[in-house]
Amino acid sequence: MPEKLLPFTKKQIDKIIDKYPTPFHIYDEKAIRKNARDFKKAFAWNKGFKEFFAVKACPNPYLIKMLHAEGFGTDCSSMAELILSQKTGIVGEEIMFSSNDTPAEEFVKAKKSKAIINLDDITHISYLEQHAGLPEIICLRYNPGPLKKGNIIIGHPEEAKYGFTRDQLFEGYRICRDKGIKRFGIHTMVASNELDPHYFVETAEILFKLIVELSHALNIRFEFANLSGGVGIPYRPEQERLDLQVMARGIREKYEQIIATNGLAPLKIFTESGRYITGPYGYLVSQVLHIKDTYKQFAGLDACMANLMRPALYGAYHHITVVGKENESRDFMYDVTGSLCENNDKFAIDRMLPKLTPGDIVVIHDAGAHGFAMGFNYNGKLRSAELLLREDGSVTQIRRAETVKDYLATLDFKRLATFTV
Ligand SMILES: *Cc1c(COP(=O)(O)O)cnc(C)c1O
Repeated sequence: MPEKLLPFTKKQIDKIIDKYPTPFHIYDEKAIRKNARDFKKAFAWNKGFKEFFAVKACPNPYLIKMLHAEGFGTDCSSMAELILSQKTGIVGEEIMFSSNDTPAEEFVKAKKSKAIINLDDITHISYLEQHAGLPEIICLRYNPGPLKKGNIIIGHPEEAKYGFTRDQLFEGYRICRDKGIKRFGIHTMVASNELDPHYFVETAEILFKLIVELSHALNIRFEFANLSGGVGIPYRPEQERLDLQVMARGIREKYEQIIATNGLAPLKIFTESGRYITGPYGYLVSQVLHIKDTYKQFAGLDACMANLMRPALYGAYHHITVVGKENESRDFMYDVTGSLCENNDKFAIDRMLPKLTPGDIVVIHDAGAHGFAMGFNYNGKLRSAELLLREDGSVTQIRRAETVKDYLATLDFKRLATFTV
């Protein structure tokens, strides 16, 4: 089986662990920047192309600042994400606010920030107007329903809670137009972790055709089509990367055929990728605490599903490298577990690995998106630190680890002392 590589040697990671105790997430700046540039380059044919990094995938302001320097904006869907963007110096139309079931104060905040607001439902037009006033530019989120096949994580579009139906979309833009809005965009997200580039070409085609119909029916002009995120990464070593060139070229062909020939160019292509941008370049680094030999062999780590929930949540595969044992044969089968009192707290089940002993450094790959971000405090587990491996090989801590004090910070023990039971 092909092996996934690490951006550090055993000697380097030993030194990092001396300073920053495991577990921690470490991100590879050089690889993220290169990937960001390649992503942008693939869409360079489209003037005005912009990627709005999905903050939920990896909500660290240091990484966001780095991506902003590469020309990316942010895709936010909560108050905290809007504030994170703002604190990172990203404001106005560099923010896409793609939320759903949205509370009024978040619309108010998004409107004040002059973010591009992407509405999830037809009733949100009047809700937004009532609470925040209508903005100058509006985007509506389309759910193609049975017209498009979904994939495993996101499910069938008609079962998904997101977006307007086709009829509602015509009605929604008409309402916005009649209320005086002049700038329009359209959005859809129908896949998650999809590795087939043609899937995104087909999605673009659906949106482009819809833009032709909407423009003609309502006499409005579209500024952008937001293809959102969902671009997959190869979690398994034997999987192939999605071919970005094939995807971007395919979208370009559809653009020429549908948008350009109908006189609707220029139209900006927007994306809201998260996973594809940082996913492969983040690693969860931990150590083996215990080896347990019962009905199975268990390797217990000092990390748990609070640091990376995907295996427990979706049964997702994450590749594991034992640092310093890369060249040993994988002759031993383990369940690799965390310490949470839930039996699904396993990073891997029946995984063939080299023989493990306590103290071994275990690196879990592809934890750079939807990894740290999904962390939680169930069972009193604490979120780990985040480190950045800089291009010059130095390491910067970009978020400290949580402490028990953080965990207890929302409780008032003074009041507890006088609370009679
Ligand atoms: C989650 C999400 C994204 C990012 O998805 P990835 O799989 O990380 O690319 C983008 N847009 C919206 C609206 C989302 O909910």
